Amino acid sequence: MEQHPAEASPVCAEIDLWAQGETAGHLRVPHSRNDSGWGTIAIPIVVIANGEGPTLLLTAGNHGDEYEGQVALLRLARELDPAALSGRVILLPAMHDPAALAGTRKSPIDGRDFNRCFPGNPHGSVAEVLAHYIDTHLLPLCDAQMDLHSGGTGIDILPSACGHILDDEAYMERSLAMADAFGAPITLLLKEVNAGPTLLSAAERRGVVALSSELGGAGRLNPHGLAVTERGVRNVLKHYGMLDGVPEGERSRRMVVPDLAHYVFAPHDGIWETADRLGAEVRKGERAGFLHRIEEPLAPPTALAYGAGGLLWCTRGPGRARAGDPVAVVARDL
Ligand SMILES: [Zn+2]
Repeated sequence: MEQHPAEASPVCAEIDLWAQGETAGHLRVPHSRNDSGWGTIAIPIVVIANGEGPTLLLTAGNHGDEYEGQVALLRLARELDPAALSGRVILLPAMHDPAALAGTRKSPIDGRDFNRCFPGNPHGSVAEVLAHYIDTHLLPLCDAQMDLHSGGTGIDILPSACGHILDDEAYMERSLAMADAFGAPITLLLKEVNAGPTLLSAAERRGVVALSSELGGAGRLNPHGLAVTERGVRNVLKHYGMLDGVPEGERSRRMVVPDLAHYVFAPHDGIWETADRLGAEVRKGERAGFLHRIEEPLAPPTALAYGAGGLLWCTRGPGRARAGDPVAVVARDL
């Protein structure tokens, strides 16, 4: 694997990224505080390497309240036998460690959403410095990358691999081949509203075959989503010839959320009563649910309808929604 010249970063990797076998340690990110000018944040990193082969970066805890990926990568780090591997796996099971420790989407340190920080800034906040390191020091080492997300506290999502709709068809085909291998029940293709500052887009800019995912949500660890994730990461290793065997599991259903008509947004604050379970087939114009206003006990709840038909792919996690929150998202077959 060729080493690319990397831009200067204040982040210090306390492990040798080129060591063979299994190595665990930390990336140390400077964090100056009033009571500790030389303070640091330690981000856990595990490298498992054996001989020749591709380099795969697997990340979780980009958002701290998304748990399937975090647990799947911890288990992979403990259970993957280096002798059975061809190539190198770099694992960041709690990539945005301050948010992962807090169990929150954003960092309690600088308030940043880590997946809105790429390509980062070596002179910025803790999150920006870390994003810059991953973009300039880790991604250039990689042939492929997968970032494991869920819906977090706010939403619940059917387990899915997620990729971008890209102009480069050959590159997109390689991403879709990785998604087929991952084998989630759904592969969802999207053109994101604000994709630029995400890790997925950073990987795409560097020509690294990359996928994101949504593997559960509503602030829980979803056992089915966890099983899909654990099988999926091993499937990706098999897909790249890094583990023996062929990917196992179901054929992924390719779907798309083509526009905002497939979202149902809360027009005001209230308690959301969904009409359908996640995974229901719904039709345009059908009732999506009721939004209740506790502050006006005798007022009827606001009935909301689906703006498009398809599979109910995502629902609101907590009962209470604020004006402007999506309470349902419908996906349709590609
Ligand atoms: Zn996320």
